[in-house]
Amino acid sequence: MNKKVFFISTAIDYPSEKAHLGHCLEKIQADAIARHKRLQGFDVHFSMGLDEHGLKIQRYAQKANKKPQEFVDEMSKYFKNLWKMLNISNDDFIRTTEERHEKVVQQIVNKIYKKGDIYKGKYKGLYCVDCESYYLPKDSDDGKCPIHHSALEQVEEEAYFFRMSKYKKEIFKHIQEESNFIMPENRKKEILNRLSQPMQDLSISRKNVKWGIPLPWDKEFTLFVWIDALINYLTTIDYPGKKFKRFWPADVHIIGKDIIWHHSVIWGSLLLSAGLPLPKTIFVHGFVTAEGEKMSKSLGNIINPIELVEKYSTDVVRYFLLREISPFEDGDFSENRLKERYNSDLAQGIGNLVSRILALGEQYGKQIMIQSSISDLITKYWDDYNKQMEEFRFNDSLATIWSLISYCDKYVSDKKPWEKIDDEKEFQKILGELIYILGNIALMLSPAMPKTSEKILRFLKLQEISKENWLSQKVILKKQSALFPRLDN
Ligand code: ZN
Repeated sequence: MNKKVFFISTAIDYPSEKAHLGHCLEKIQADAIARHKRLQGFDVHFSMGLDEHGLKIQRYAQKANKKPQEFVDEMSKYFKNLWKMLNISNDDFIRTTEERHEKVVQQIVNKIYKKGDIYKGKYKGLYCVDCESYYLPKDSDDGKCPIHHSALEQVEEEAYFFRMSKYKKEIFKHIQEESNFIMPENRKKEILNRLSQPMQDLSISRKNVKWGIPLPWDKEFTLFVWIDALINYLTTIDYPGKKFKRFWPADVHIIGKDIIWHHSVIWGSLLLSAGLPLPKTIFVHGFVTAEGEKMSKSLGNIINPIELVEKYSTDVVRYFLLREISPFEDGDFSENRLKERYNSDLAQGIGNLVSRILALGEQYGKQIMIQSSISDLITKYWDDYNKQMEEFRFNDSLATIWSLISYCDKYVSDKKPWEKIDDEKEFQKILGELIYILGNIALMLSPAMPKTSEKILRFLKLQEISKENWLSQKVILKKQSALFPRLDN
């Protein structure tokens, strides 16, 4: 049995603070991809998790008067609950403080150490605790972090370095030649630009940070948290076991635009040094702003995803983020825009179509045989939709589904089935056709809106029948409560 396999990961989140909409967007995008691949018959491994080590966690725990482990244990409950609320179908949730992870990390860094790619030296430079990253003076914003605008810390300590510069040429060539390695194109150019400047080796140890994985050959040091974190992609598939052999290289790492360098250059070089193939695609999504402004504590405009789900439901939040936020650029969250989308696309669009078909079915009261005279057209819609999903164009794939919904709306108004309820043959033909199209719409909706998809298939009595067997099935339809009751403005 050689089933097609697909490995997708999100970035593992840093649990110093609660999640914002950007975290949610990434998980929902990844979930849509994973569900789409499963729909296509792939054996999918979908991993997420938490990056629990490092100075930042150590300090946050201190502030909260907790031990770091206690602090991350609590935060992990919050994160797991949030992903459950968003109906994320991940197969693994890896925490970097788990023993299985520590083992894999030590194997990988030992391998790199034995290869001679790690040497001891002295590190002197700037460090941002919020990024957990080193900065060269020229990249700093007058001594401040260019991302966090907080003062960078001077670090001067003995350190172990990874010979990253040794792999610079190979990484550059790989990024340039493999057109899908970094997506989208503008992000790829950004990294190639940075790679054409002088590059230093990477300090991979911290001497005074206790909250980390000790270096296997020198317990006085802990491993730089980023190296620890990146290796999670191997831990989740049980490196170096059977699952690893089956699923590596990863098909997609989904990440935010602030950590492309880490995933392409640092992770790429580490893998080359360890003699492992590079992931196939690093897909970079943009950031989410709120009502046109960057979300921040000081502006008090941070949107709590849990409240949003409680107010509008999981599928509405999933739909809005996938439909409204461009997959490759920054996008804006606006509650008014969400309400507009809800009323026009969900209450009016899919919700109304489902209600109309069910009402007609109930009015007719007898079995309807599912049929199709437009299978070619449906296939064409599926082809467009699949291609858009494969290219991570979630917004376009939803637009494709909604154009099929409009097709049905027009079909209903053109054919006027309510006038033909006594013409058995004609009515059967119209409704049978509509049920078939609506079933296909429900399947296409399943990656973005899994609960809505299930509901529609259940209403159509198709939930337990595979699509190949839909034609000639006979179903009796009944009215159901509205999928998306209209919201008042
Ligand atoms: Zn920073």
